[in-house]
This record gives sequence, C-alpha cells and structure tokens, in this order.
Amino acid sequence: MDVSQLLDGLNDKQRDAVAAPAQDCLVLAGAGSGKTRVLIHRISWLMAVENIAPFSILAVTFTNKAAREMRGRLEHLQGRSLHSMWIGTFHGLAHRLLRAHYSEANLPEQFTILDSDDQHRLIRRIIKSMNLDEKHWPAKSIQWYINGNKDEGLRPNDIETHGDANQQKMREIYHAYQQTCDRSGLVDFAELLLRAYELWRDNPRVLKHYQDRFRAVLVDEFQDTNNIQYAWLKLLSADHNNMMIVGDDDQSIYGWRGANVENISHFLKDFPGSKTIRLEQNYRSTGNILKSANAVIDNNQGRLGKELWTQDAEGEKIGIYAGFNELDEARFIVGRIKEWLDGGNALSDCAILYRNNAQSRVLEEALLHEALPYRIYGGLRFFERQEIKDALSYLRLINHHQDDAAFERIVNTPTRGMGDKTLQNIREFARDHELSMWAASVLMLKEKRLSGRAGNALQAFVDLVQQLSADIAENALEQQADHVIKHSGLLAMYQAEKGEKAKARVENLEELVTACKQFEVPEEADDMTPLSAFLAHASLESGENQADAHQDAVQMMTIHTAKGLEYPLVFMGGVEEGMFPSAMSNDEPGRLEEERRLCYVGMTRAMQKLYMTYAECRRVYGQDKFHTASRFIREIPAECMEEIRLRQTVSQPVHNRFSPTTSHEAFNESGFNLGMRVEHAKFGEGTVLNYEGSGESARVQVQFDDFGAKWLVLAYAKLQPL
Ligand code: ATP
Ligand code: MG
Repeated sequence: MDVSQLLDGLNDKQRDAVAAPAQDCLVLAGAGSGKTRVLIHRISWLMAVENIAPFSILAVTFTNKAAREMRGRLEHLQGRSLHSMWIGTFHGLAHRLLRAHYSEANLPEQFTILDSDDQHRLIRRIIKSMNLDEKHWPAKSIQWYINGNKDEGLRPNDIETHGDANQQKMREIYHAYQQTCDRSGLVDFAELLLRAYELWRDNPRVLKHYQDRFRAVLVDEFQDTNNIQYAWLKLLSADHNNMMIVGDDDQSIYGWRGANVENISHFLKDFPGSKTIRLEQNYRSTGNILKSANAVIDNNQGRLGKELWTQDAEGEKIGIYAGFNELDEARFIVGRIKEWLDGGNALSDCAILYRNNAQSRVLEEALLHEALPYRIYGGLRFFERQEIKDALSYLRLINHHQDDAAFERIVNTPTRGMGDKTLQNIREFARDHELSMWAASVLMLKEKRLSGRAGNALQAFVDLVQQLSADIAENALEQQADHVIKHSGLLAMYQAEKGEKAKARVENLEELVTACKQFEVPEEADDMTPLSAFLAHASLESGENQADAHQDAVQMMTIHTAKGLEYPLVFMGGVEEGMFPSAMSNDEPGRLEEERRLCYVGMTRAMQKLYMTYAECRRVYGQDKFHTASRFIREIPAECMEEIRLRQTVSQPVHNRFSPTTSHEAFNESGFNLGMRVEHAKFGEGTVLNYEGSGESARVQVQFDDFGAKWLVLAYAKLQPL
C-alpha cells in the first residue's frame, strides 16, 4: 500500500504520533482531536512501515462496537482481512486469553461466562445456602463488594477486615461464591480480568510468549482503565517499548465503577522513556460548541491541561431551551427533530443524550406520538425494564387475577420464601384442574394442600395481592401505581440494593408513577378502566416501535454510552440542577467534577448543532420539583448560546435568566406566568404551559393534572391563579 496515504489527512502532531519510532507513547488530547483516528493510522503504519504482522498487534477499545468499527476501518485502509490481529475490549481479550490457556488458568475447558444477572442470582443462592438473612446481606451489595475487590486484584485472602464482623462476613460470602464458581467453571466479568492478570503473573512462560508475540500494544480511552486492567497492560509491556495509549483526563467518567484516571500519571512514571504528544486541533465541532465545552471543563481543578482549537467557523450558537416541564421539553426536542428531518437530513445523524435512563420515557412517548422511529443504545426501552415489568405485573395481577405470567413474575419478587417446588406444585394443580395459578393457589390454601412453610408463604402473597386490590379500588391511576410500588415491597427491595443500576431502578419506578399521572385514556378505550387502558398501552409500547436495525432512526442513549461517538445534531436533555449535576454529587467535590466531565463528554459529541434543554418543573415520583438551569449551562460563555423562547428567539441571552433566583417571566399583562399553577372550574388544577395571541383572542395552554394538556381562550376560561 502507499505509505504516504497513511499520513494524508493528518496534521503535523498527528503524523508525529502515527510515524513515531518504536517507543512508548502517550497521546493526551481533548475530545474530537483525532485520537482514535491516530490510533487506527498508527496500526496501519506499524504494519506497512515497521513490518509488524497483524498477528503481533494488540489493540484495546472501550466497547465491542468500537472494536468492530476499528477493525472495519483498518481492513478498509489495508485492503485485506486482519482476523489474526487482536482487537477488542479488555473483557473480550481476557476471554480469548483464558480460552487459549484454560488449564494454566485453572479453568475447565468449557468454562462459562456469568453475566451480571446470573451473578446476582448465584450470589442470592449462596447467601441463602449460608442461612443468612437477605435483608441484612442484600445480594446486590455483595455483588458490588465482590466485583470491587476483583477490580482491585483482591482475592478473599488479600482483604484486610480489621476485625470488623461485617467485613469478615462479606469476605466469607465472597469466598463461598468463588468456590462455587470455581467448582462449576463459572467466570464473572470482573473475574475475566483478574484471571487474565493472574494467568500472566503466575505463568512466566505464558507471559513471555505474549510479550514476544505482541510487538505493539495500543489502547484507546485509556483514562477509563481500572487498576487490574492497567496491571495487566504493565505485565505485558514490561519488556518492550511499544505501547501507545490515547486518552483524555477530562473524559474520565467511570470513576464510580473503579476506573482510575491516575493511571495516566502512573503510565508516565512506570514507562519513563515514553513520549507525550498533545493534539490540539479539534476536527469535530464548530467554534461555538468547542468554546463552550472548554469553558465548562475549565471549572474543574487539577486537570492535566489542554488547549483545543478549531479551524471551523463559529457555527450556530448553542440552543438553550427551558421547558416549563418535561413534556414541554420533550415536545421541543421532537419539534426540532422534525424540522431537521424536513430539511432533508437523516434521523440517524441526530442523537438525544440524557443523564439517566429514566429520562428516556417522556422522550420516547413524544417520538412515538410523532411516529418518529428511534433506537435506544445500551439499555432497554422504558416498559421493558425489569423493575417496570415487576411493578406492571403487580398491577396486572390486581387488575386481572388470572394473569399467570404476572403471577409467575411476582409470586416470589421480592423473595418471600416460595420454593421452586411449591411453584411447580401450583403449576401442576392449576393444569390438572384447568385453573389459573391464582385460583389454584386459593383453592390449595383452602384445602390445606401445602406444607406449613410453603403454605404460609403463599398465603402471605395471596393476602398481599388482595389487600392491595382493596386498597386501590377507589384510587386514581397514579395513586394506584404509587401505592402498589410502595406496598408490594418492590420499592424497598430496589432501595436496599446498592450501586448505580439499583439507583436507576428506583428512579424508573418513580418515573412509572409519573407516567400514570400523565396518561390520558384514549377515546377508543373509554370503556376501559384507566388501569386497564394504561396496562394495554404499556404492553403495546414495549412490543413495538423499536426501529429495526437498518431503519433510519433517532439515536437515544445515556451520555456514558455516547463516549467516543459523534453526531451532527445533539440534544442534551434534563440539564438542570438536581438532575445534572445530580443532587447527590453536590456533597462531594470529586463527584461534581465527574459530572462536569460527563457534561463535557456530552457536549463534545456534537458536530454542527447542540441543544441543551431543561425543565423548570419536573415530575419526580408524582411530585412537581422546581429546578433551575444547571450550573453547567451557566458556565457557558453568554456569547456562545442563545436562549430559545416559544415563538421568539432572543439572540442576546439574558444571562441572569439562568441564575438560580430568577422566576418565570410574565408573558403578558394578564397576570399569568408560564409555569404558574392555576385552577379551572371543570378541569381542576394545572400548570400554564404555553400561550398565543393577545387581548381577546389570547389563548393559554394548561397542563391539567387530571385532564392532560388543553388550549383555552383566556377570556372565557376563568382561570384562577393558585
Ligand atoms: P473522542 O475524545 O471523543 O474519542 P477523538 O480524539 O478520538 O475524540 P476522533 O473520533 O478520532 O477524535 O476524531 C474526531 C473527528 O475528526 C472524526 O470525524 C475524524 O475523522 C476527524 N478528524 C480527525 N483528524 C482529522 C484530520 N487531520 N483531518 C480531518 N478530519 C480529522
Ligand atoms: Mg476517540
């Protein structure tokens, strides 16, 4: 191949990195400066100029998707297949290594990977078999504990418990869990990494083989490696000097999962002859986007420090939109996406990014409403999420006792000591007598067909469902959901779990209550109860509408998932104090800085146009929470953004508007404010959402708590401010 081609389309510093002599090298640079591009060209260069065989190259990416893309681009550049090259995530590569050396790694040939859910279930079984109370030893916390220790390279024997009884018990559970895994040939995700590390550490011959084999090691997104991953790389590269790592300390966003940004400094210390190359030109974003992102991240302390500039024009200003509430925010986003589509653009060039998974629901519904296809990356659609299905199953069983699927899902969730055998008995009895599982249970209890313990457990469940049914019979839909989530034990169960995922589950449950509140029974379903109509709506939504793989669709994901990606049009939603940065991060400076880095990652995904939106009033768990614009918006230079108002755009933003103290501006002399709470004789209480016209023809849109959004002529509506 033509070598000069490999340097075409690169700037001087990028060329320095791509064509550097064999040595350890750190490419430290901000978002969109071409780090990933350099890495790919470097690999090609090594093959073409340094004659390194694909077989001798190891490249680590952050996701499998990134690995596939990298391989594709390399094969394209090289014009040949490169299957002997090792490109993958740390987990993928560790798996490959362990398969090749299972016996040295003390694993059976057919070892099985345990995914996170499997691991959770196994830990629960272990806890039970040790006769421990799950309330005191929640499986999720233990899982968090085990994985955290593995990420640090610690086996049970390495853990110092300082005589603390709790710590000792946790260590004991870890030990028992690991014994079971080892006996059954099970390997969890964290174990993959730890085993791969120990394999090399304890088998010098194997290590030597790979040290000789891999003449070049390249790592993308290095700032998010954890300690065990770094230790693994260090073993591999101890002897030869050809490791290139690329990263950006400002994009380290997995600290909460054990990633250690200090690995960058460790690298400089551990590889003393290494060369550092800084890339400073950004090729991704317009001037305004870049300047804004730089200004935001500048508020963090102790950065390694980077300057980023672009040759690009300033481009459009960052659009800031303050929705009156989250529905309004979603409508705004979807409106702009429609304009984008009407302008002849592809939906797949447009991404909606959010801080938490729960935020997707309102956005999903707004997109569905306009029949715009969308795809959610790295997560399930709202109504398909485990905790939502759990809660819906309670509601379904209450609504219709004969719903066997719902019965099966929740009869032992949260656990109430119902064994598999009892369940099997119920199933058989139901089948033999052609009864639903519910009816079978009631009959079996009446006829005392179950042993004491099993009978008690089942009786408790039947009583619970009956009690819940009676409690909510007269309630509005929202209260029904709220009551069931709280009193079924589901909320407590998820609250007792630890970790980000559990937190997200609690948020999703809260979001379900909001979904009920906002649900309007469609006209064609007015013969159904609100609960039945809502349940039908939820099942229909979960089954359909996810865009198929090749369909042009809006891309939706959390900011974490968007790392490394880029889109011409980007929306960041929910950029308000209390959401982003999250309320919890206020107490810890370290966390606040990680939130700010996350904001930086989100903003720098945008190529041409970036919108940051927030809701002044957001329903969280059925309660209106009033929020101000995120401090991150306030950190953007005034001249880089424009505030978008309904039906008018103020190009010179009133900066004060984003300060925490300003209230909604009066929209006319009528005495009503946007966002104000009002009462209507027929529709009850609601929030003013929008307005148009003036004088006699002035109309207002009000989001009524019980009747949804309505347009009313102000002169006739007789609205009372509250
Ligand atoms: P991130 O930190 O977000 O992962 P990055 O530093 O890895 O970003 P890339 O994704 O490699 O950046 O590059 C950003 C964009 O700029 C890509 O579209 C890439 O093709 C383009 N690009 C990089 N270098 C150049 C160049 N010298 N000339 C033209 N375009 C470039
Ligand atoms: Mg990159």
